[in-house]
Amino acid sequence: MSHSLTLICPLPNGIHARPASRIAEFCGGFRAAIRWRNQRNGQLADAKSVLSLIGGDILFNDIVDIEIDGESAAEAAKQLQDFLRDTLPHCDEALSAEPAASRALPRALAELSPSPCFGQPAGQGVAIGELCEHRGYRFPAVEALPASRGEPHEREALRQAREALAQGLQQETERQSGQAAAIARAHLAILCDADFDARLDQALRQGLGAAAAVAATVAFYRDMLGQSASEYLREREIDIRDVGRGLLERLHPEDEPAATTWPDAAVLWAEDLAPSELLALDRSRVRGLLLGRGGLTSHTIILARAFSLPVLTGVPRAAVAASLGRTAVLDAGLGALFLAPAAPVLDYYREEAALLEARRLREARASQGESRSADGCRLELAVNIASAEEAQLGFAHGADGVGLFRTEMLYMEADAPPSEESQFQHYAEVVRLAAGRPVIIRTFDIGGDKPARCLPAPAESNPFLGYRAIRIYPDQEAVFRAQLRAILRASALGPVKVMIPMVATLAEARWARRVLDEERAALGLTRPVPLGIMLEVPSVLFQLDAFCREVDFFSVGSNDLTQYLFAADRDNERVGALYDSLHPAFLSALAQAVQTIHRHGRWIGLCGEAAASPHALPLLLGMELDELSMSAPSLQACRRRLRELDAGECRALLQQALGCEDGAAVRALVEARGARGKLPMLTTECLLPSVAWRSKAAAIKGLVDRLWLLERCDDRYGMEEDLWLREQAYSTGLGHGFAIPHAKSKHVLHPTLCLAKLEQPVDWGASDGQPVDMVLLIAFNASDAGAEHLKFFSRLARLVMHEDFRRQLREAPDPQQLLTLLQARLEGAA
Ligand code: PEP
Ligand code: MG
Repeated sequence: MSHSLTLICPLPNGIHARPASRIAEFCGGFRAAIRWRNQRNGQLADAKSVLSLIGGDILFNDIVDIEIDGESAAEAAKQLQDFLRDTLPHCDEALSAEPAASRALPRALAELSPSPCFGQPAGQGVAIGELCEHRGYRFPAVEALPASRGEPHEREALRQAREALAQGLQQETERQSGQAAAIARAHLAILCDADFDARLDQALRQGLGAAAAVAATVAFYRDMLGQSASEYLREREIDIRDVGRGLLERLHPEDEPAATTWPDAAVLWAEDLAPSELLALDRSRVRGLLLGRGGLTSHTIILARAFSLPVLTGVPRAAVAASLGRTAVLDAGLGALFLAPAAPVLDYYREEAALLEARRLREARASQGESRSADGCRLELAVNIASAEEAQLGFAHGADGVGLFRTEMLYMEADAPPSEESQFQHYAEVVRLAAGRPVIIRTFDIGGDKPARCLPAPAESNPFLGYRAIRIYPDQEAVFRAQLRAILRASALGPVKVMIPMVATLAEARWARRVLDEERAALGLTRPVPLGIMLEVPSVLFQLDAFCREVDFFSVGSNDLTQYLFAADRDNERVGALYDSLHPAFLSALAQAVQTIHRHGRWIGLCGEAAASPHALPLLLGMELDELSMSAPSLQACRRRLRELDAGECRALLQQALGCEDGAAVRALVEARGARGKLPMLTTECLLPSVAWRSKAAAIKGLVDRLWLLERCDDRYGMEEDLWLREQAYSTGLGHGFAIPHAKSKHVLHPTLCLAKLEQPVDWGASDGQPVDMVLLIAFNASDAGAEHLKFFSRLARLVMHEDFRRQLREAPDPQQLLTLLQARLEGAA
């Protein structure tokens, strides 16, 4: 019997490659035939084929009729309905396209009168190099390709080419990491797609040769996706072309154009660029990319971002043709391109490039070294991972270990539970990468929002409270034991700990301990392997003394603990206001748990989202947790913030937070105390005894850049504008060659005094008409209470009235003496 469902597409970007692959994977698990029909355009799609689904051109809010026929159609319809309701809406995140360049040029640049052209920026950074044209691969026309030598012959040639390409892509997924690996996986999925296969097959049957069949198939998808109303879907065409090119390359290697050698520093222009073409570029020479076409969401742009390559799209060939072979400067921050720029503009950008590099190095250094607060209190910062790639990224960002290795993904994507051996390889790779740092491997947390086809569970009305994680282990004991054996074997390679999710009772913890001990004994391991539990079910909070006797460590699953504590679904926005990990009730539960656990000499970390929250950090430090574990991109910022915090002050702050009424009051409290901690207002790094800035605009930019380099300001262009607003009202040139530009700006992260002695005095429009050679910039945050910044300004202005102070400042030879002098005189003037 046939069953039907209706879907209103909930995804803002429509059904593009990623959600389509989730749908195809899900529907592929049923024997029943599942067909989708888009009411808007009448397109039919086979729900088991990624390409067919993409071809349905299903956009946000399109209505789709779904027909399910054949074996077990009723069960398939039931499960599909749940999938569409619970899983599909989370299959994609909103696009974060960078806005088109709307900023005016910074003043120091504008006064050099450059004449840029603008494009759509992607990524960050500046590229300076010779403008070169990348002549992209031209996809041959079907007629231009060799005629068929007979269907069996062509079929075999195509089979071999597909096999070779699949092998190459598979190797890419293993060799590359992050986005590059994900894109290789997406290309592999296209190559193995049933619809793609059917089109090739049809072309061969129609008498085309293998290469011509590939070209015809690519042309078919080009036409189909080219008609989509969604730019996002149109951009997927280049991926299909890339796969097609890979096949042609293997069918006719002799036709491949020879690789081009680029100059030492090149800015490339291309009409468009396929991901494989980007991967093939010598990135030590290619500094930036200009594209005629190619939207911000294409895989090429995603890759360019991952490689920190600045890109501008929407730059037509006509705009660059006359400047090929000349110098070009690409500023992705401004979305601007400068062709054959004059020497001062080039100098400006050489300094800009040096500044960006200095900041990059500073951030890289910040990722090294110990994770301690300003007063030396240790707090391990670990990474949450699901794969070796993420582990690699985490260690590159300075992770002290893996605080949560989620393993359920291994089960969610498979038709059968992964074998012990494949799991061992998976875990071993991460333990090797950890090189002696601890790795906490969590046993599979299937159920709730993470269903797995290979461990089927009956549909439940309340899955988060249902058959999930350790609750299913006794029924899947062989699967659980196989995973434990794989983890135990990996523990021979480094310090591994086992963690069990969703433990609610002592009996569960004891059961897990017994099974672990049995497997350890069976493997002949004498070394103990620490066993811990996720602290995420509230019942555990009330039996902690007893739990401390059963397990070796705890890691707070704040995502679940928050939802269970407030009885508010973590994925339901309508109860989002109730779900608050900064609520005093939650903080109080946690603070008491840490105290009890430490009293027993046990270890406790936290691995939910709260670990990466800047507001939570001072409170979690104040609680004296042993570790915070978060996703890799959050690590560096967290370490920097930690280094600015004083653990003693944070303990006091926590006590105040516990007395607050709600989460909003806690947030306000943390903000008022400065969530970022305090840095001294004066440091030698902010005092520049000799600089060659040649104008007022250059001096203001130079000082703001310094603030930004030292991470005392988060938006240098915004900060500059705030300073200029004041300069427009009146000049801050106070006479005697001194200027004190100042602002209260939301872009200031720490109050700062920054000084520069200019080698050549510049015109400042000062009250006495004299040029300025001493610039003192005062920066306060817009939220700084009272008139602190004005008090500071007038104190400094009073000092500048004294001739001896001016002389001493001018004569101080180095930053240290400048610092000593300023500290002594400012304190004296207070
Ligand atoms: C948590 O619950 O906080 C947690 C880290 O686990 P998950 O998000 O995987 O449930
Ligand atoms: Mg959890």
